[in-house]
Amino acid sequence: MEIKNANVSHKKQNILTDSFGRNHTYLRISLTERCNLRCTYCMPADGIPLSPKEHLMTVDEIYTIAKEFVRQGVTKIRLTGGEPLVRKDFPLILKKLSGLPVELGITTNGVLAERFLPLLKENGVKTITISIDSLLKDKFSKITRRNEFDSVWDTIKLFQNEGFKIKLNIVLIKNFNENEIIDFINLTKDQNLVVRFIEFMPFDGNQWNMDKLVTQQEIMDKVQYTFPLQLKKLADAPNDTSRNYKIEGYTGSFAIISSVTNPFCDTCNRIRITADGKLKNCLFSGKEFSLLKLLRANKPILPVIQKALKHKFATRGGMDTPEKLKNPELHSKNRSMISIGG
Ligand code: SAM
Ligand code: SF4
Repeated sequence: MEIKNANVSHKKQNILTDSFGRNHTYLRISLTERCNLRCTYCMPADGIPLSPKEHLMTVDEIYTIAKEFVRQGVTKIRLTGGEPLVRKDFPLILKKLSGLPVELGITTNGVLAERFLPLLKENGVKTITISIDSLLKDKFSKITRRNEFDSVWDTIKLFQNEGFKIKLNIVLIKNFNENEIIDFINLTKDQNLVVRFIEFMPFDGNQWNMDKLVTQQEIMDKVQYTFPLQLKKLADAPNDTSRNYKIEGYTGSFAIISSVTNPFCDTCNRIRITADGKLKNCLFSGKEFSLLKLLRANKPILPVIQKALKHKFATRGGMDTPEKLKNPELHSKNRSMISIGG
């Protein structure tokens, strides 16, 4: 399928640069709204209404849209979801995208990852982000509403042995798993892992409120208390969404993603495409721009991409004050995380 690009030269017009001068070089593509887990912070208990299959991007459509973004300057693509590995044609998608000159990554819950290890290797994936919110089986089952701890843990071990760079994502929730912060950091003593603590973010249907939040400051207080002399700040990469640290003498490192209390919006370089082909200029923004509709109508997508970038707010999709952030009406204007692709 060919894209009509409306004769726009990206070099002159900086299609992927927004009104605040932020250049977007990192594309996150959600492959599916489905998942084999049911994490409480990500999706409502009853699930979400799923889009009919014919409304989702096909392999070719994903490739065509991705290719256009790469032409405009994207250098990094991450596949996410839902759970990207439940999509039956995942191997085809990965193979096609691996032909693009980008760094390819994947965020997965790890349940099915073992069977895809050779495929990921063959197609140049070197870094994998795996979500695991508790090191305790019971708690893991409680938060994911499924009993898959062992398969996730085995995946982490296996991918480590195979030389992958592994990041672990942990969403912290007050009075639930905040007492595991040090246990997670202790994993980095002998293992070359990056353990990333994520502040719980508000989305439609996830029962978020400020009281459930474990803040960056609270995390750091615990770490400083436990490792008063060994805590070391690491340099953050230019567009890092995390603040990076390590414990002196430990093999791995840890990081905090503080999208709620200390967002990194001023250096944001991320754009997202949902599985139904809509561009989201920010995780927190309810505004969406359908690229798939245009593609299927054989119309150019570049003007809409440009429009989406121009409409990007400076901070958290316009939720720039604590009052706005706490307003459930604004959360319900956005999707559930499962259908955005975190
Ligand atoms: N299924 C894959 C997984 O769990 O890694 C990929 C999709 S998931 C939506 C991507 C990331 O978003 C996960 O690391 C998950 O923990 C995170 N996430 C989901 N809901 C969140 C929330 N409300 N606040 C913060 N992070 C969230
Ligand atoms: Fe599924 Fe990932 Fe959401 Fe958990 S965080 S429900 S694994 S998409």
